[in-house]
Amino acid sequence: LHPRSFEYFAPQTIRETIALLNKYKDEAKILAGGHSLIPLMKLRLASPKYILDINRIPGLSYIKESGKDIRIGALTRYYEIESSGLLKKYYPIFPETAQMIGDVQVRNMGTLGGNVVHADPANDFPVTMVAVGAEFVVRGPRGQRTIKANEFFLDVFTTKLKFNEVLTEIRVPLPPPRSGGSFQKFERKAGDFAIVTSAVQISLDNQGRCKNVGIGLGAAGPTVIKAVEAEKVFVGHRPEAELVERAADRCSDVSHPTSDIRGSAEYKKEMVKVFFKRAFYKALNLASKDSRKPQT
Ligand SMILES: Cc1cc2nc3c(=O)[nH]c(=O)nc-3n(C[C@H](O)[C@H](O)[C@H](O)COP(=O)(O)OP(=O)(O)OC[C@H]3O[C@@H](n4cnc5c(N)ncnc54)[C@H](O)[C@@H]3O)c2cc1C
Repeated sequence: LHPRSFEYFAPQTIRETIALLNKYKDEAKILAGGHSLIPLMKLRLASPKYILDINRIPGLSYIKESGKDIRIGALTRYYEIESSGLLKKYYPIFPETAQMIGDVQVRNMGTLGGNVVHADPANDFPVTMVAVGAEFVVRGPRGQRTIKANEFFLDVFTTKLKFNEVLTEIRVPLPPPRSGGSFQKFERKAGDFAIVTSAVQISLDNQGRCKNVGIGLGAAGPTVIKAVEAEKVFVGHRPEAELVERAADRCSDVSHPTSDIRGSAEYKKEMVKVFFKRAFYKALNLASKDSRKPQT
């Protein structure tokens, strides 16, 4: 399989990239890790005339703490997320998500920015992004703006990003003490795309009640789902089993998967409950054990 021919650019700055996007509009595509774009080009489902390879732009790959949040550069590869001490400390859900993606080759090349912009409903990171309340920093000809993860994903392969904007950074608020999160993926075999996924991020107060619960569901509709009604079940309450069952039902209610080679819609709706509960109990266990001192 060969893609159609294209012209290749290797811009050195974001400004140059934006200028090229402005010039070539829908005929141009950014290339990051290439692990979604190149397969699409080989299958000729996408045939951009201009490829803008952003891998030579310095300063787009990092994971750092910055006062009240953690900032991750859009070009950061999954293997860097998997092995980041900072993320293991504050957001183990990030390395856990990265580990579930594809195989070692995919994780060596694929980027966090590419995973979210691609917006495949079966991509893993969008699910985690809505659970943790991430924000995306994007730059365009008029400067910079931020978009909340739960507003970013519009439809299959469709986001709020404009044709002349570049995603530069992902920000997540520093979690309060007694926080924990987990990403759970149901797949036919290791490295496959998901049948369903669920991500849960929990913060508890000193009495063990839920202060905040973020829930994302993946491969359960045309785009990632933030299960708002299920989140509301917990706020201000101890996470009793009965509430977890009620929230699982809410997750299933809001899911609308399609029947395909990975299973029937009815089966997937049941599996949404199962994988939500797995993610919830693991997140709760981590939050209960989180020994970081409360901030004063
Ligand atoms: C064998 C295989 C298995 C896989 N398994 C999984 C899996 O289990 N889970 C999973 O989530 N994914 C999986 N993937 C997909 C993989 O994670 C891709 O890496 C990811 O979807 C896209 O990231 P990328 O960096 O490769 O982006 P690219 O393929 O380079 O780009 C994808 C899209 O995003 C745009 N884009 C990229 N970066 C930016 C940016 N900074 N600003 C604006 N636009 C940008 C591109 O123009 C393009 O439209 C798999 C891929 C393969 C080949």
